[in-house]
Amino acid sequence: MKRDYYEVLGISKSNSSDEIKSAYRKLALKYHPDKNPGNKEAEEKFKEINEAYEVLSDDQKRHQYDTFGHDSVNNGGSGPFQGGYTKYSGDFSNVGDIFGDFFGDIFGGKHSNESSHKRGEDLRYDLEISYLDAMNGAEVSINITRKDVCSICHGTGSKDSSAPKQCTKCKGKGQVRYSQGFFSLNQECPQCKGRGSVIDKPCYECRGEGTIRNRKTVTVRIPAGVDEGTSLKISGSGNAGSNGYPAGDLYVVIHMKQIAGFKRNGDDLYTEVSISFPQATMGVEYDVPILREHVKVRVPPSTQPGTVLRVREQGFPKLGRKSRGDLYVKVNISVPKSMNDVQKRALFEYAKSMGEVPKSAQFQNDSFFKKIFK
Ligand SMILES: [Zn+2]
Ligand SMILES: [Zn+2]
Repeated sequence: MKRDYYEVLGISKSNSSDEIKSAYRKLALKYHPDKNPGNKEAEEKFKEINEAYEVLSDDQKRHQYDTFGHDSVNNGGSGPFQGGYTKYSGDFSNVGDIFGDFFGDIFGGKHSNESSHKRGEDLRYDLEISYLDAMNGAEVSINITRKDVCSICHGTGSKDSSAPKQCTKCKGKGQVRYSQGFFSLNQECPQCKGRGSVIDKPCYECRGEGTIRNRKTVTVRIPAGVDEGTSLKISGSGNAGSNGYPAGDLYVVIHMKQIAGFKRNGDDLYTEVSISFPQATMGVEYDVPILREHVKVRVPPSTQPGTVLRVREQGFPKLGRKSRGDLYVKVNISVPKSMNDVQKRALFEYAKSMGEVPKSAQFQNDSFFKKIFK
């Protein structure tokens, strides 16, 4: 039976990620194999601590673990430790790397961050999307240029499959160890530049890089509610790492395509409608064709020009939540450009009842009104 991860780190479910980190540091310092040479119990403890930390330090895994328990998170390495602890086999070099990376700052950052050195670079792609896609969510295919593992040498960088020779200085580890206090720290091997191997005959396709630039189509799932500047991370879709190291991530940065007649402010959407004078006076139910669908807006009687009506929950979805922003509709009053005789008579009668019989020259020259004024 596996012990509860919170119990392993001596913390509780309500602890913050900083508290988890600090609990991990304390225990890892205590049980680190370099501090407890030959102590099997400490070794097991250290493995257990790392396993617990790998899960609890990752918000997504932590949530999964909280909900579904051990089985949901024990499917082998991904995440910051890349299964380092599972490869653990009495050779402390893997654990040393992990430990060094994590504690590098304690020792003045002397330790070179070798995992980021070999891991592929992250990539960025700027994507413009419509209001409609931001409203509903969408799936978009994008084309990116990225480094993939070379298909000729399978990432070895070498011309013939026999070739890459183990580096003599670091014996293939890519790192040389040196001692500082009670820790042994690793540094990139100067002879092979951290590759762990030296290539005599480089691959003709990739010139020994082990990676090759490719044009790739990547499908991006855009969640409803994204806004200008939202950054979507697509894990492992960045550049390939060298020598089988993991690929970097792809970050898709969202930009909003502007659309006439609409304005977005956070999760709220703004638009304007034009209604007639009788509609404004007597009230009307107006169909506003917003992006998602037509939304019925009730314009109450005696609405004045410039009034802004608020329609709750008809704006953009709030990213990652169930609620939405609001829709704001500014009401304009439109004046007819032409009228038929029936309409003119009605308007004239209305004006007369208000004591507002029009006297303007243009009005009086109108053939219809001329008849009335005679
Ligand atoms: Zn190659
Ligand atoms: Zn080397």
